[in-house]
Amino acid sequence: MSSRARVIIMNSALGPLDYRVPEGMIVAPGTIVIAPLGPRQLIGVVWEADRMPSDAEVGDNRLRNLIAVVDAPPIPAPLRRLVEWTATYYLAPPAAVLRMALASTSALEGARTITEYRATGAVPPRMTPQRQQALDRIGERQGLIRELGLAAGVSDAVVRGLVKTGAIEPVDVDIDNPFARPDPNHHVPALSADQAAAAAALVAAVDTAAFAPTLLDGVTGSGKTEVYFEAIAEAIRQGRQTLVLLPEIALTQPFLTRFEARFGTAPVAWHSDLRQSQRRRAWRAIASGDALVTVGARSALFLPYANLGLIVVDEAHETSFKQEEGVHYHARDVAVMRGLFEACPVILASATPAIETRQQVALGRYAELKLPGRYGAAQLPTIEAIDLIAEPPDRGRWIAPRLVKAIDAARERGEQALLFLNRRGYAPLTLCRTCGHRFQCPNCTAWMVEHRLVRRLACHHCGHVEPVPEKCPECANEDTLVACGPGVERIADEVALLWPDARRAVVTSDTIWSPAKAAEFVARMEGGDIDIVIGTQLVTKGYHFPNLTVVGVIDADLGLGGGDLRAAERTFQQISQVAGRAGRSIKPGHVYIQTHSPQASVMQALVKGDADAFYAAETEARREADAPPFGRYAAIVVSSEDKNAADDIAREIKRSAPEVEGMYVYGPAPAPLAMLRGRHRYRLLVHARRALDVQEVIRGWLGALTWPPKVRVAVDVDPYSFL
Ligand code: ADP
Ligand code: ZN
Repeated sequence: MSSRARVIIMNSALGPLDYRVPEGMIVAPGTIVIAPLGPRQLIGVVWEADRMPSDAEVGDNRLRNLIAVVDAPPIPAPLRRLVEWTATYYLAPPAAVLRMALASTSALEGARTITEYRATGAVPPRMTPQRQQALDRIGERQGLIRELGLAAGVSDAVVRGLVKTGAIEPVDVDIDNPFARPDPNHHVPALSADQAAAAAALVAAVDTAAFAPTLLDGVTGSGKTEVYFEAIAEAIRQGRQTLVLLPEIALTQPFLTRFEARFGTAPVAWHSDLRQSQRRRAWRAIASGDALVTVGARSALFLPYANLGLIVVDEAHETSFKQEEGVHYHARDVAVMRGLFEACPVILASATPAIETRQQVALGRYAELKLPGRYGAAQLPTIEAIDLIAEPPDRGRWIAPRLVKAIDAARERGEQALLFLNRRGYAPLTLCRTCGHRFQCPNCTAWMVEHRLVRRLACHHCGHVEPVPEKCPECANEDTLVACGPGVERIADEVALLWPDARRAVVTSDTIWSPAKAAEFVARMEGGDIDIVIGTQLVTKGYHFPNLTVVGVIDADLGLGGGDLRAAERTFQQISQVAGRAGRSIKPGHVYIQTHSPQASVMQALVKGDADAFYAAETEARREADAPPFGRYAAIVVSSEDKNAADDIAREIKRSAPEVEGMYVYGPAPAPLAMLRGRHRYRLLVHARRALDVQEVIRGWLGALTWPPKVRVAVDVDPYSFL
């Protein structure tokens, strides 16, 4: 008798396929298997057939045999439900979602052991002085033959001889040696009354072991991390796993250090910088349930935790939780769904929660815990706006006199300052003074950005780089290229002119590209080896530097230009977060916001510290426009190297749009980034009322169309980028 199994194989172009289960092989939903596909062998996961329809119904007699079962725990049911939900919600192939769960091929090669040796206590029938010496010195030691020989001061042959006699025996050792267990009682902080109340609620939620999303809404420096650490401690006591999601890989190192201070050992870190062996070890420990606490960027979300008891999304408002390639998912939202399927609490921690999250609280779907004040003696910083029209910087400069004075004063007090400008490189635009030639990326609708430190022009969209030319490629005049506008490198030059003795650090993804680099920066800041930091959004998040007291925002208007629906909200969040780096300890902080429109409501809200009024107005505007979270959007992006082909398909998609009540389709129009990586792009925007299953509509609509392989159609549900 043969049985068949439905399998999602790791090929996103194909739907689920059926296979025959050979006699003696046991599979159940979730089992990870190796399946044949043409001449190849692919990894796949057995699925419930009734939950995953196959479009290739094949008769029993034509089925191919599964090849093997992978030596790894099966994908648990809650994760299977999450894969289905994510694929359906974001209109992605299930295989593409599942691939994120099976994120280490090495881990799927099964348990790997090496053979080590140790003494058994038996006395060899023929004892020699060398054997005696070997056994005496080896004692309790265990290791490779070579290692034991070295330790005992005898040759390998002597050790091997002892193995033959049975005085020394082989032991198989897992190369995936276990992670140390965090100790929930290692260093328990004394919490303030507010903190203790919030912690108690979170601990209770962990004990209840039911789905419970909670917004932990606390001002910067209020101790949100300390508070959710108590929930993690409780999960550890229960022997259940915790997943902590952070927005940036650059933040993991400081987190690991803090975690270790609290729990005596670092958590398991999951990020793109891991070596293959580290990934493998982490994956297997996560899948076996041994890894009690895992911290990572959004890719840690789909790992096969055996026994999840708590999910924390820190800095939950961060837009970097939105994945913009492949499966276009939002890790914050998927984390909440994972909590639902796993039946565990989900903590969203933020000082500046997203309007979407606030709305869930308002509807009573999420609980809210507030930490209204900074911990201990620390006060929130003072915030002033500097009107760039009334108090402009000197010609060719970007730092206004009032901010210069504030930094002078900080330097006199021996304190640190931070200048924030969300623009990498030296200048956003380079042009020729003589002929006006501008340097544009050959692959994208974007200017090339000058990076003076590495003497390159770079495109921030596709990564194209070229050397800065000696003369203008258009008019061939020499020395006529001028930089327009500031980037962080240019601000760093200005800082060097103003404060020649100050030790500077430029913090961007160009300088901090790994957790190790981030750790180095943190150590230099904490050690007082840096006086002035110039940074992009990378420095707005999470960091805690007690001696940093002055923060200057070079261009607060920068984020407001794009005109997308979250521009004001994002500006508010970003500036609040960067302001939140100032005065986090006993020394008071001062923040200066340089702007051309000090009367704009977002600047007023920042200066007055009136987040509630700002959010109320923003929320009302969204409600009126039926924008998220009240209505919903989905973007359809059509791209091709062939401009006409992309244009044609975009129009055809529009023509075939179904008439659905409560749905409106805008476009197609050339995308603001009309060309990206050599592909021409057209966008359609679907606007739908909340209750409409817009994914279902789009699935039917696009499913009925075909387009040539050179055209790509990507759907972005709940888009964050409108470029
Ligand atoms: P947030 O995440 O809300 O910005 P943090 O958790 O980073 O705040 O806390 C800010 C600083 O205050 C950190 O250095 C933290 O260690 C310290 N802190 C907060 N709460 C306590 C506490 N109860 N005991 C000791 N230190 C605390
Ligand atoms: Zn480019």
